[in-house]
Amino acid sequence: MDKQLYEKIRSGQKLEKEEAAQLLDTPTGSRDYYELLYLANDYSRGTFSGKGLVFAQIGLDMQPCGVNCRFCSMAKDAMCGKEGFVRPLEDVVEEAKALAKTGISDLFLMTTAQFSQEDFLEYGKAVRMVLPPEMRLVANIADFTLPYAQKLKEAGFTGVYHICRLGEGVDTNAKVEDRIRTMDAVRDAGLELYYCVEPIGPEHTNEQLAQEMVRIRDYPVGVMAVMKRTAVPGTPLAENGEITAARLALICAVTTLTARPPRAMCVHEPDELCLMAGANQLYAELGSNPRDVEKDTRNGRGFSVEDARVMLGKAQWML
Ligand code: SF4
Repeated sequence: MDKQLYEKIRSGQKLEKEEAAQLLDTPTGSRDYYELLYLANDYSRGTFSGKGLVFAQIGLDMQPCGVNCRFCSMAKDAMCGKEGFVRPLEDVVEEAKALAKTGISDLFLMTTAQFSQEDFLEYGKAVRMVLPPEMRLVANIADFTLPYAQKLKEAGFTGVYHICRLGEGVDTNAKVEDRIRTMDAVRDAGLELYYCVEPIGPEHTNEQLAQEMVRIRDYPVGVMAVMKRTAVPGTPLAENGEITAARLALICAVTTLTARPPRAMCVHEPDELCLMAGANQLYAELGSNPRDVEKDTRNGRGFSVEDARVMLGKAQWML
């Protein structure tokens, strides 16, 4: 590895975009590859005091979504003809109550872009009432402006998952400027932003990945993540295939060392190799899921809280 880069990492400095892109070129299985995994693992074990975290996400609806992302099972084109649904508020509150008892630290509510903003605030308020005060409540929803960010905060949300996705505006109908405006609103309302380099496919360049690793410098991000794109049957980008676990581990390591997240580093979906390359946090999921064709991802790809705990334990993260 470049000696200067190595020293920079060892001394705890964040990497620049060009440096991250350079490291992403490291050949899989080389000495430098394992050195990067080691350095990221070392950073996370120390920063997070050896502790693993489980978050949970409830998908509230499955409706033909006009943002029409070319990787999503709920995109308008992918759903053609399939019946949609919105989970009743009472069911979501019961699910949140049960999840709160499992010891998760952060609960996410996710919707398609079709979900009513006003209704979402009602779901948020009702869920907040059944969560312990210290538990973080996070919105994963379509773009919004500052007044709505303030309403989210009043409703009891502590943070928002919002990102500029790889291929935004090309593989999705969302605009990069709207995504950034929303992230600015999250910051300006005093909410925590959760960020992720996603959804990573084989066609994405090292420069594209590095751009998302450094984008968080303008925001109060405590939790960073990486996520590979799942080749969902019936979605246009499925034909591009998926990146390998070995490639994802390298991306996870470089993202960890570039972002140096203070609270947690996530890999999504759960992946053991990444838990040895900087990641210490996994999601349990239920309800709808853009990466799943099941109406309730518990019957498909979704991990339970227990599944997540077992995997964290295998990589020797303490719970
Ligand atoms: S990923 Fe989200 S925004 Fe894109 S089509 Fe699916 S539900 Fe809509």
